[in-house]
Amino acid sequence: MNIPLCLPSIGDSEIEEVTRVLRSNQLSLGPVLTRFEEQFASYIGTKYAVAASSGTAALHMGVRAMGLGQGNEVLTTSFSFVASANCLLFETVRPRFIDIDRDTLNLDTDLLRDFLSRKCRRNRRGELIDVEAGLIVKGILPVHVFGLPAEMDVITELAEEYDLWVLEDACEAIGAEYKGRRVGTFGDAAVFAFYPNKQMTTGEGGMIVTDDPDLAAQCRSLRNQGRDADGRWLKHTTLGYNYRLSELHCALGCAQLSRIDTLLDARNRVAREYMNLLGGRDFLRLPYSDSDSTRSWFVFVIQVAADSGAQCRDNIRIHLEKAGIASQAYFPAIHRQPYFAQAVPHLPGELPATEQASDSCIALPFFPALASSDIQRVVETVLDACDAQGLSARLISVH
Ligand SMILES: *Cc1c(COP(=O)(O)O)cnc(C)c1O
Repeated sequence: MNIPLCLPSIGDSEIEEVTRVLRSNQLSLGPVLTRFEEQFASYIGTKYAVAASSGTAALHMGVRAMGLGQGNEVLTTSFSFVASANCLLFETVRPRFIDIDRDTLNLDTDLLRDFLSRKCRRNRRGELIDVEAGLIVKGILPVHVFGLPAEMDVITELAEEYDLWVLEDACEAIGAEYKGRRVGTFGDAAVFAFYPNKQMTTGEGGMIVTDDPDLAAQCRSLRNQGRDADGRWLKHTTLGYNYRLSELHCALGCAQLSRIDTLLDARNRVAREYMNLLGGRDFLRLPYSDSDSTRSWFVFVIQVAADSGAQCRDNIRIHLEKAGIASQAYFPAIHRQPYFAQAVPHLPGELPATEQASDSCIALPFFPALASSDIQRVVETVLDACDAQGLSARLISVH
């Protein structure tokens, strides 16, 4: 039996809620959208939530609503899913990649602080200029990668000091907490996503949350073809999009959100079992944890020795594949993607921690219904593969 990388958890309540919408004849912009948004905002702890057709669409709306554009730069991470940087390129904003912390895999806040204090200067108009690039630095876009909160106290403190926007990419981190507070409540706005591999799904879908009424209103308008809040159907005030989320998707979202604690608990169980079985080995690096953060488990990613590029990792993945076990090389660094190398060129070694993580990460099968016996099989196969690579004998440090 093959073991997949991920599987959504769809129960009777999901099927009932979606069926009810189908029987209602109201398939878009109806009461279920409102209910989903209200319940989501209340779960995260923000005043407003605006649903969108994907996480990427929600990120794009955030960038637009913050008024970012040509000549601007946003500080972010290259160790992420491409959408977190694409949303900037959509608006010709330049992502300025800051390297990651080798332990957390999130933005290295020492480097972030360093960049702001040493590489930026205010011009006569009071704008913060990245001197080398000649661009105006407008914001920070931290990603809570693999569900682990970025260091939000430092990030919000720097944002305040330098007067920058913060747009949290919380697409992988629903329910995660930093110092006792849910992610999504730290930035000026935050985005969540509901693709089927996420902790909760709507099939396709996303959400932007904020406490700022103007930002929320702008997003509602951008989502709906630039229409005014007065809802007149053929009056378009600004250039907008069709980023709406249908009632069917929202019904699925309501059902999933009402079970979110159970869904997250089930993921915690799988993570715990992996940790117990894989722990205590020098040649594997397991997901980071500390007392500041409660991770929302999105994927289970281990790192293997990477001092010789990605070869070792790739061989282990081939070994897993032959045993019928799916895996993924999460994440290939964004700045190494072919089109990015053109848009925002980097030299090899410019982001060393990001590149090392990209060469050494393996995402293992991870979903709520993953059986203990399957977890055991995955672990045994991983350890066999490491043996075959001579890892356990050589005890290569991944530091
Ligand atoms: C999933 C994800 C997104 C959004 O993805 P969509 O497929 O557009 O919903 C954005 N950023 C990160 C880091 C993600 O993991």
